[in-house]
Amino acid sequence: MSPATLYYIMTRRISFAILLATFFATLPLAAQVRFDEWFCDTTLRLNYIFAGTNTTQDIALHTMACTPSWAGRRVNLDTLLLAGNGQVELTDSASGKRIYITSFSTLFQEWQHSEEATRVRKAFETVQLVPMPRRTCFATVRLYDSRRRIVAELTHTVSPHDILLRRGKASSPYAVTQLAGGAPQAGIDLVYVAEGYTAAQHDLFLSDARTAMEALFDHEPFGQLRDRFNIRALFVPSEREDVSRPGEGMWHETPCRSHFHTLYSDRYLMTEHLFGLYDLLEGVPVEHVIVLANTKTYGGGGIYNLYAMTSARQAWFRPVVVHEFGHSFAGLADEYFYDDQYETFYPSGVEPWEPNLTTLADFSQKWPHLLKDSAALAEGVSVFEGGGYQSKGVYRPSNNCRMHTNQYPVFCPVCREAIDRAVRYHTEPLAAPATDSAH
Ligand SMILES: [Zn+2]
Repeated sequence: MSPATLYYIMTRRISFAILLATFFATLPLAAQVRFDEWFCDTTLRLNYIFAGTNTTQDIALHTMACTPSWAGRRVNLDTLLLAGNGQVELTDSASGKRIYITSFSTLFQEWQHSEEATRVRKAFETVQLVPMPRRTCFATVRLYDSRRRIVAELTHTVSPHDILLRRGKASSPYAVTQLAGGAPQAGIDLVYVAEGYTAAQHDLFLSDARTAMEALFDHEPFGQLRDRFNIRALFVPSEREDVSRPGEGMWHETPCRSHFHTLYSDRYLMTEHLFGLYDLLEGVPVEHVIVLANTKTYGGGGIYNLYAMTSARQAWFRPVVVHEFGHSFAGLADEYFYDDQYETFYPSGVEPWEPNLTTLADFSQKWPHLLKDSAALAEGVSVFEGGGYQSKGVYRPSNNCRMHTNQYPVFCPVCREAIDRAVRYHTEPLAAPATDSAH
């Protein structure tokens, strides 16, 4: 090494050290974006349309609305828990500073893997709730493909003075029952929504919502963290009981307009009417949504940071409602698989963002630490091939788990750890984000 090079490196190091020292001296409380400095206690509802085919995707802003009070997280505002299949980021228009980011998945992206998407262009509604910025900011929405590439992006302005920013209801016109917890500012706000219950079945719905809540807290780590949840039940009556069954030619006019055969898959009970669902929820403190369907037919689904749904009147209601919340709340993937492969979901060489699956492309960000943990090993944590619908090339952490079969009673240690982190991410400042980008 030449003296000149050595001098260069030394000066670079010294100046970097000075820079760091200056940074910490002037910003002793750096890192966290402070909620009160950047946001009002108001919810900004962003309505988007995602449209495209199996190979194309576009994002359009539909409308925006704001409602009093913000029930979402007030910590870790500018960091992500998980990369997700899409992200919404708010940046201050004056400084360019990121002040909020969240991630999500969509029904649209699931549909892109379907046969129908190869022959028709379709549009899907989606809703994201973010805190209302005090000053004008930019909202950027991004969608990622299964190789973690940005495939669509939209940036638009959010101005607190925009006259077309609709002022929504401060309180719900429907019956809202608080089942657990306290103030919206203090915990994770989960709402059970009634679907397919008649006006006379209000008590039946409340009973089903309590069963769902008990099932949740019967699973660790939800049980030991139950004081971090506020749980409400939103009752909107249906004209008739049960939900729509397109396979039998039966269409019911229900509040959420859900139906079986979503994406032409017979047991996939979901709603595509996200705007309608969030209209029902307006005025209710909400962060996470579980729609309970008054039907005896097995079905449901869960989409990360969008909503979960399940049949409430079938034998597997308790495990399924918890499994679907594992998807929608903690971004957990299905650990089951089929003999035939669906390669496009988890391509080889790309590490999935879901915490409980790996392709071994970058296992270091998954559960290597639990392979040295005697308690986790005693529970059978290892690396098992088969998961995420693929029998080859995708690996799961445990032979069985709540994310694998309904019969198995608990979440595996890897899923428990992911849920624990998700709860803490919502409710306490975390020192280091798990992921700060889409990679
Ligand atoms: Zn698991």
